[in-house]
Amino acid sequence: MHTISIIGSGFSSLSAACYLAKAGNKVTVYEKNDQLGGRARILKHDGFTFDMGPSWYWMPDVFENFFLDFNKKPSDYYSLEKLSPAYKVFFEDFKAIEIPKSIEEIIEVFEKEEQGSGENLRKFMSDAGYNYKVAIDKIVNRPGFSPLELVTPETVSKINQFFTSISSKIRKTFKSPKLIQILEFPVLFLGAKPQDTPLFYNFMNYADFVLGTWYPKGGMVKIVEAMVSLGKELGVNYVINSNVSKINVEKRTVKGITVDDKFISSDIVLSGADYAHTETLLDNKYRQYSNHYWDKKVFAPSSLLFYVGFDKKLVNVRHHNLFFDKSFDNHAAEIYDTPQWPKEPLFYASFPSITDNSVSPEGKECAFFLVPLAPGLKSDKDLVDSYFKVLIQRLEEQTSQELAEHVLFKIPFCVEDFKNDYNSYKGNAYGMANTLMQTAFLRPGIKSKKVKNLFFTGQLTVPGPGVPPALISGKIVSEQIIKKALKILCHD
Ligand SMILES: Cc1cc2nc3c(=O)[nH]c(=O)nc-3n(C[C@H](O)[C@H](O)[C@H](O)COP(=O)(O)OP(=O)(O)OC[C@H]3O[C@@H](n4cnc5c(N)ncnc54)[C@H](O)[C@@H]3O)c2cc1C
Repeated sequence: MHTISIIGSGFSSLSAACYLAKAGNKVTVYEKNDQLGGRARILKHDGFTFDMGPSWYWMPDVFENFFLDFNKKPSDYYSLEKLSPAYKVFFEDFKAIEIPKSIEEIIEVFEKEEQGSGENLRKFMSDAGYNYKVAIDKIVNRPGFSPLELVTPETVSKINQFFTSISSKIRKTFKSPKLIQILEFPVLFLGAKPQDTPLFYNFMNYADFVLGTWYPKGGMVKIVEAMVSLGKELGVNYVINSNVSKINVEKRTVKGITVDDKFISSDIVLSGADYAHTETLLDNKYRQYSNHYWDKKVFAPSSLLFYVGFDKKLVNVRHHNLFFDKSFDNHAAEIYDTPQWPKEPLFYASFPSITDNSVSPEGKECAFFLVPLAPGLKSDKDLVDSYFKVLIQRLEEQTSQELAEHVLFKIPFCVEDFKNDYNSYKGNAYGMANTLMQTAFLRPGIKSKKVKNLFFTGQLTVPGPGVPPALISGKIVSEQIIKKALKILCHD
């Protein structure tokens, strides 16, 4: 048995903790905040419960596979509902489109919007489905040690898809600007512009339209609770309010961590905290990546978030709503090309109390607003308030109802909060983007090249941002720890 200390309690850490404990190790997770789950914490206020981070439950197969590794299933811990419609998209012409829950119904919606697009969508999804299978079966579970991991008969046959952008393919195949925006939306989860995302990533469209959008009753926090409950069954120890201030190394070998001035001896240290931050816990000579390295990387956006309570139920909205009623290209340029506060922001609004009456008091609505922002932007109260007014006004116009007078409270969360609460590099919300040059072996590595027995997991390493990738990241790193590091230790 080896003593393994895990820094942070995001999904990747929670996942790794389960695998490492199952393999017979003594595992302790140290989280600086007062709740487990990383960015998937909850906020409770005046009878409302907010998921503070992720809200889209996509790729249910990844969650099933995770629990299956422990002879469990998600339904042992939480109940899932497939949302119907999956989401609603608002446009400038005030004619919103709802995405139904099955691909056949979605094809009908497409056909109504653009003649002939239904058949094109069917072909596009057939390719996307193939890519999903290749990605899940052959690529995302690789540790990112070598470019050869990407070379399989399936990927070689698709090599052109790594050098064509998903945007160019979508724009060649579909003419309706609305359908183009809907199809370009899923890759935003990967953190980069569709113009900079390889076509191979159209597997996200398969995840969206074929696998569907699900909701765990009680909110995304139910996944956290499930994984912690499983971890406890396996013997994992969780410690909250425990800030790791140093990774202790002697002669290039990890010796433990310092938690609030107390040294914790450890055979292996695994960090699921933001990678760039983790490196600052090491003496300079043990860091692998320079400030310049991090500065040059394309980070996924940060966000301006609002957790809002309304004193009434809303009309004309669904559980998930995308406000694409302003220029997508302008907002994307303000995130990636010339970082600045967006002049006319696109935004996402979620009203989970439409599906789940346990998250708000009766007759009231629980709302979450998200405006993607360039990482590193500065904000102040007046600026944040002015954005809230814009969002409420646009929501009122698009849904034909009075809302400003019905806001019970609004709690903002912005770039500085991401830095303070999660030690997030430049306040990124969901890690490092999956561009071609930041894929697989080109991402920061899961194993330190400078310190023996120090490992990394989470959204800045492989496979990338999102809850399902975090679960996979925890599994990948645990396999490496179990296979390699423990062998090394046994020989020491
Ligand atoms: C607003 C928002 C919306 C999102 N929406 C979705 C979505 O709908 N669907 C989806 O799949 N994904 C979504 N994501 C992305 C997803 O939430 C993340 O990719 C994933 O949760 C990241 O998990 P992680 O394991 O990398 O760690 P994180 O969640 O980043 O957790 C790291 C933990 O480490 C802790 N930590 C940091 N430093 C220290 C230290 N020194 N000592 C101790 N602890 C430390 C932090 O407090 C944090 O709890 C969203 C993210 C955000 C922020």
